[in-house]
Amino acid sequence: MQIDPKLLEIKEDIKILIVEDSKLSREYTNQILKKYYNTIYTAENGIEGIEIFKTYLPDIVITDIRMPEMDGLTMLKEMKKINNNFYSIVLSAHDEKDILKTSILHGVTRFITKPIKIEELVKTIESIKKNILFTKKLNLQNQLIENILNSLDIIVAISDGNELYALNQYGLNLIGYSSIEEFRKEHKCICEFFINEPGFIQNTDNWLSKLETLEEEKRKILIYDVKLKQNRIFFVNAKPFLEDPQKKIVSFYDITLQEKQKEELKKLATIDFLTGIYNRHHFHTILQFQFEKQIRYPQLKPFAILMMDLDHFKEINDKHGHLIGDEVLKEFAHLVKNNIRKSDFFARWGGEEFIILVPETNREKALQLGEKIRSLVENHFKNNYKLPKVTVSIGISIYSSNDTIHSLIERADQALYMAKRNGRNRVEIL
Ligand code: GH3
Ligand code: MG
Ligand code: MG
Repeated sequence: MQIDPKLLEIKEDIKILIVEDSKLSREYTNQILKKYYNTIYTAENGIEGIEIFKTYLPDIVITDIRMPEMDGLTMLKEMKKINNNFYSIVLSAHDEKDILKTSILHGVTRFITKPIKIEELVKTIESIKKNILFTKKLNLQNQLIENILNSLDIIVAISDGNELYALNQYGLNLIGYSSIEEFRKEHKCICEFFINEPGFIQNTDNWLSKLETLEEEKRKILIYDVKLKQNRIFFVNAKPFLEDPQKKIVSFYDITLQEKQKEELKKLATIDFLTGIYNRHHFHTILQFQFEKQIRYPQLKPFAILMMDLDHFKEINDKHGHLIGDEVLKEFAHLVKNNIRKSDFFARWGGEEFIILVPETNREKALQLGEKIRSLVENHFKNNYKLPKVTVSIGISIYSSNDTIHSLIERADQALYMAKRNGRNRVEIL
């Protein structure tokens, strides 16, 4: 990212507080420093110094050591309790050199002996100012990075696949933690939040290295969103982190909506809206696939096609209305679906016609299944007082190596026609 330096400009201004009980000395220092710095506060004792410190939070505190009411070092100690982020310069007479040691222990930044030499004081302040501005700039840069990362609606993490080193606000919110420290108390790896479901990257030690070997459409993870209380799908991408070959910047893009839409479209393309079973288009795809399999592996047992058509369905519509007709179709689909094998492929062929592809089946088995469905339908609707009685006619064809899709379907259709002609509620095979 390119950043205009103006964005990171900081005010060169610093705030200085002078605490000195001797009026002469205090005003003298004030007068001199005023020539160099804009914002100077003065206090005549420690108590007043702390009050001003609280209000203005100066960058530098210059203090005398010996003062009535509260000495300089005690005052600095109190100030540090309020805010630790300031520099201190302690002024003292020659004979107070022994204080130097205590001053250092108190975290005093600089030590200047009286009488104050202007040049020394300004030089000292200038070198501190450099530090202050540098730190301010660094803080601003850090804030900028944090601000950008936290404003993104994607999860950004830094990890070596095992340990988590950074996670932006979006990621923390998603998994329900307020900070990375809180996360660390209970977890180590972001992968602990991956839900192990087929089709998604699993929670394993090598998820990050594995990620790079995966094709794009397989780089997906599932995470539970604690706020929305639902699983969400993310696309994962890893980029190198600085020069460290172990660590990566990992980004997770929420693709839940796109995936749901894809799923919907797939459903629309394959599922019959009324009955919830496969549609004719999808049946055709499966039948084509079955033909290719059969040609490639001639030793496979043949498969059967069962073409089914409800008897006198027009009368049901005419007598009971279209809505009841629809209920009968749904009930029929439900009944058949629950009474065939998972390996059988059941679809709505159109209107009140249905079709089943039964793999590895001979004539005898196919006839048995046809008869089973025929009697099941007859009995089911006979005993169902909410819906009109209905029966089904079934025509069967068995695949042979000189069949085409067309010839196979055509034969099942002819068998069905035969079943109708021979009185309906029957099974025929050709
Ligand atoms: P047959 O025993 O010879 O099959 O007689 P049939 O009345 O079932 O035959 P036909 O093909 O003449 O009538 C089929 C009827 O199915 C006509 C059509 O209105 C109805 N139908 C087709 N699709 C639907 C549907 O989605 N819902 C409802 N309720 N009826 C449908
Ligand atoms: Mg029909
Ligand atoms: Mg019919």
